[in-house]
Amino acid sequence: MSIAQDGDELVRPEVDAALVALDQAQRAAIGEGVFVFSSYRSYATQSSIYQGFVNQYGQAEADTTSARPGHSEHQTGLAVDVVGTSGVARLNVAFSTTPSGQWLAANAWQHGFVVRYPNGLEGITGYEYEPWHLRFVGVELATAMTQSGAQTLEEHLGLPAAPNYG
Ligand SMILES: [Zn+2]
Repeated sequence: MSIAQDGDELVRPEVDAALVALDQAQRAAIGEGVFVFSSYRSYATQSSIYQGFVNQYGQAEADTTSARPGHSEHQTGLAVDVVGTSGVARLNVAFSTTPSGQWLAANAWQHGFVVRYPNGLEGITGYEYEPWHLRFVGVELATAMTQSGAQTLEEHLGLPAAPNYG
C-alpha cells in the first residue's frame, strides 16, 4: 500500500486499487501524494459524528454538513475524504485552491472518482461544498459525467435533488 494514510483505511477492494493509482498519478504530476484521512464509517461511528454536529449546531445546520446515520456515503465503502500529503487545508474548503485540490478536481475522474459535493450545488446534492470528499463511481461513469458536463450524480443520473429525510 503506497498511500499515506491514518492506518485504518477501509474501502472496497476496487476503490483501494483506484486510490493507489490516483495517489501515484497525482504524485507524478505535482510531486505530492494523496492522503486519505477518512474512509469507511460504521453506522455507530456515523451516529456519533452526526449527533456531535446536532449537539453543537442544531439539526437543520447539521443536516447540511453531516449525513444522518444510514445516509452517509462513507457507510458504502465507496467514499473517502482526502488531502494532499502536505496536509494543507485538511477538511477545509480552501483545499480546493491547493495543488492537490486543483489536481483532483481536474483529474480524479480518470481514476473513477468524482468530487461528490461541488461548489454552489447544495440545492442539488443537499450538502455544502466538500472539495475533499471523493466518491468512487468507476472510470466509465466518471468519464461519462465529465463528457456530459454534469457536475453531480443527481444531474447525470436524472435523480431527484437533495435527499429528503422527511
Ligand atoms: Zn466525506
